[in-house]
Amino acid sequence: MMKTEAKKVWMDGELVDFADARSHVLGHSLHYGVGVFEGIRAYETPRGTAIFRLKEHVARLLMSARFYFMQVPYSAAEIEQAIVDTTAANDIVPAYIRPLVYRGEPGLGVKKMTGKVSLAIGVIPATKYLGPGSEEGVKTKISPYRKPRSDAIPSYAKAAGNYLNSYLAGVDALKEGYEEAILLDALGHLAEGTGENIFLVRNRTLYTPGTESDILMGITRDSVIRIARDLDYEVIEKALSVNELYSADEAFFSGTFAEIVPIRSVGQYMIGDGKVGLVTRQIAEVFYRAVQGKEKRYAEWLTPVPKLVAPAIRARP
Ligand code: PMP
Repeated sequence: MMKTEAKKVWMDGELVDFADARSHVLGHSLHYGVGVFEGIRAYETPRGTAIFRLKEHVARLLMSARFYFMQVPYSAAEIEQAIVDTTAANDIVPAYIRPLVYRGEPGLGVKKMTGKVSLAIGVIPATKYLGPGSEEGVKTKISPYRKPRSDAIPSYAKAAGNYLNSYLAGVDALKEGYEEAILLDALGHLAEGTGENIFLVRNRTLYTPGTESDILMGITRDSVIRIARDLDYEVIEKALSVNELYSADEAFFSGTFAEIVPIRSVGQYMIGDGKVGLVTRQIAEVFYRAVQGKEKRYAEWLTPVPKLVAPAIRARP
């Protein structure tokens, strides 16, 4: 059964009511975009609710914080536990989980490196980033907004400020009647979507931009590469041109919020025959089975969320 109401937000160690999860309007992160976050999904599995690749998401959150000199006052294990607890407290499935590291106390001035670093964890009902039905393919365009080079804004950090670029590209695409934008990097190579990595398929080989690119190293991207190789497909990580995109047999996006989304067209060009390609479909099928705990081989990707038990009655002192 779908359970859909957000109840609690974890804020610096406490579960507060959703309506009370507030931050000061003069907080540093709000003004300058210096905050880092994660997007994580929890799925219903035969063994109850489970979080997909929790460890990898928490590791990336801490790496992102390091990029911005934010000292997170919790260990990876503590953050993982807090995410499990918050997911259990909200009892929402499927869920989208949003941990955010930020400076929320009043304090203006760009070059702030001191002051309290906070962690908040929200859990909301999961929806499809690219809309209902996006698993059957979306219409995209090449964005006029390029990805900034990583010597301007490091793309490996999942920082709030990075999403100014995603926002401009995404809104431009929507205004023009497309469902998603594909951003190029400063040299004109394919980078990624507004919140997804990109894969091309040609002659049953998969291609995706490599680790040297100005992209976020997606955890779904990593899952797709592993699944594809396990299915005996070759996966090549390299710089990709728009020529290679327009002439691909298949193309798709991968991301936590989007999941796996076939690209039907790019601007005026249809990709393949405009339908979901066979390779994309096969990989998506294994992916959706894995996240739902139906693929033994990938069982280690799932962290179970035990039901919250009522607090034990304390013995009188
Ligand atoms: N690129 C960008 C810019 C993103 O925001 C995301 C979503 N986190 C991704 C790629 C995909 O990453 P992941 O698979 O880890 O969600």
